[in-house]
Amino acid sequence: MNDLAELHGIGPTALKRLHQLGIYSVTDLLQHYPSRYEDYSQVVPIAEAPLDTAISLKVQIKKMTSRNSWQRRRFSLVDATVADDSGTLKVVWFNQNYIAEQLTVGMVIMLSGKIKQTKYGKQLVNPVFERAKAETVHTARIVPHYPTTYGLTQKQLRYFMSQALTKTVPEWLPQPLLDERQLLPYGEAIRSIHFPASDDTIEQAKFRLGFDEVLLVQLVSLVLKQSLAHETAVAIPIDEAALQQFTQQLPFTLTNGQRQAAWEMMKDLALSQPMNRLLEGDVGAGKTVVAAMAVYAVAKQGYEAVIMAPTEVLARQHWHKLTALLKPLGIKVGIMTAHHKEATTAPVVVGTQALLTEIIQFPKLALAVIDEQHRFGVAQRQLLKQKSGLGVTPHLLSMTATPIPRTLALTAYGDLALSIIDELPNNRQPITTTVVTEDERPAMYRHIAERIAAGDQVYVVAPRIEDEEGSEKTSVERERVRLEKQFPNIKMAVLHGQLPAKTKHSLMDQFHAGTLDLLISTTVIEVGVDVPNATVMVIENAEVFGLAQLHQLRGRVGRADKASYCYACTNSSQAGVIKRLQFFAQTSSGFTLAEYDLQRRGPGDVYGREQSGFLNSFKIAKLSDHKLITLAQQAAQSLFPDLSTYPVIQQRVQTALAQVHLE
Ligand code: ADP
Ligand code: MG
Repeated sequence: MNDLAELHGIGPTALKRLHQLGIYSVTDLLQHYPSRYEDYSQVVPIAEAPLDTAISLKVQIKKMTSRNSWQRRRFSLVDATVADDSGTLKVVWFNQNYIAEQLTVGMVIMLSGKIKQTKYGKQLVNPVFERAKAETVHTARIVPHYPTTYGLTQKQLRYFMSQALTKTVPEWLPQPLLDERQLLPYGEAIRSIHFPASDDTIEQAKFRLGFDEVLLVQLVSLVLKQSLAHETAVAIPIDEAALQQFTQQLPFTLTNGQRQAAWEMMKDLALSQPMNRLLEGDVGAGKTVVAAMAVYAVAKQGYEAVIMAPTEVLARQHWHKLTALLKPLGIKVGIMTAHHKEATTAPVVVGTQALLTEIIQFPKLALAVIDEQHRFGVAQRQLLKQKSGLGVTPHLLSMTATPIPRTLALTAYGDLALSIIDELPNNRQPITTTVVTEDERPAMYRHIAERIAAGDQVYVVAPRIEDEEGSEKTSVERERVRLEKQFPNIKMAVLHGQLPAKTKHSLMDQFHAGTLDLLISTTVIEVGVDVPNATVMVIENAEVFGLAQLHQLRGRVGRADKASYCYACTNSSQAGVIKRLQFFAQTSSGFTLAEYDLQRRGPGDVYGREQSGFLNSFKIAKLSDHKLITLAQQAAQSLFPDLSTYPVIQQRVQTALAQVHLE
């Protein structure tokens, strides 16, 4: 039943739009939960309908006219008079021409909306309508509203959903487990989340579906943890003298957070069971040097380490940094990317993830570090083990600047040990962040000119590569035209993911070297890029980014002791948008920002859908709900380790495990 196209009304266009929402099957569709509801369950006679209150009416259409205004293009008005036994009422629809085609005089329909007192008398303005029937979908009930995309209406989504729900939705958990915890059956929960009978049932449905999410993630964690517990690794004894030597040659002193994280790592490395640690630290917290310590400890004992970055740009940056840190200590660092291979037999090799599929073997591989990723996927782990001539699993260290609050991290990544660096090096100055509306642009440009004249460098980030019809989002191309006009004498370039790798590297090298003053870029520079001389970050259409993402972008500046500036530009005048951006401007902690968005949206929206990987599993679970988390954790423990007695659960866990590859 996984075929969306079987549902009535889903043609190629709708299918494409559903795909944009990440919906590829009926199962996906059912898990596309409402973001809010409108309560239209109060059905009243016209004569008793209160003003300014969400109500529904069952009426017959008595009269209908539609008009187009010629003065203003694209303006239309549909005017109707409707009646029931108790009285008549005027209804108007603005700019919804198609209504005249769908409704005719004499039809009995349901209307949902609010009645307003206007200068023409009482009117129901822009109500939702549908043919009167026993089981309504759009009116006369609590009506769901879904996150959607351009060209896909709420009515379409509801219609698809109502069809999908007529199929049977099988239960995947054993009945006693549900009974013990008083959880709704799955089918009932999924029906209630979309078309609830009351507010109470929404809460019960959310609890059940949230329980499922947490349970599944916990089971995956348990399986991952168990599979690693049986593996062996090379124990790297703690060599305090070597560590001291390392820290003494640094041009700075480590922060306490860095020391703590390094120490936790050293203790893990000393065991003959593979380390599996996530190092979390806000942008610029200095994770690279902590990883370098682990790498050094391993190399010092005569073993090998690999470091993987998500992009070639970052791989090269790491290569430069690690070379600077380790060469003075007599450790050679190689690099291996699609376009650059050098000293690939060195004890320390930096590369992209393509390193895993290269035929190269590492006879003494004992440590693998992966940057800007939350954890190693199952397949990655397997490949690493095969690569090591030692026949053991390497110690694993993943690093991320994604500010995942501890409770979320523990729930989503229960199999990982966690180190959090929660302070920045004390040479940093706070980044002055300003929200910029259209009329404040000239002042911003004046300031940019000043900073560039003083020798600093500037990033301008735009959400798109090229302009797209119907989209209000600006593009790097549009910004280039604008900035070239604004700054005719400044050296600037455009960077985005679709440029050839060579061009990208050459541009990044030029920006690093300071031969470019201004870099116009898409979010390809979002993670990891470290150019300490860059002090201004301009983010165009800031409102389209999650706060955690904005924070990442801002983290590209303020990376040395110079004063730095971030401009969050927006054309929006919506109070909510401005408030959110102001909060961003006033808050320097990535964790606080992530929490703010997490309270209001799901992790997928907070961290970006593509990037958040496994965090996307939590569509509905409230991670602040301790009862929910505890209940699901206990349930996971009770089902584990013998999942083979529950084939359906085992199947689900296997599917979810496959998703871990993607992280
Ligand atoms: P991130 O945690 O975002 O990966 P990096 O490791 O790239 O951060 O470090 C950011 C910058 O801070 C680098 O230029 C690095 O050399 C510097 N740095 C790291 N630790 C310290 C410290 N304790 N004091 C001062 N500067 C530091
Ligand atoms: Mg980094």
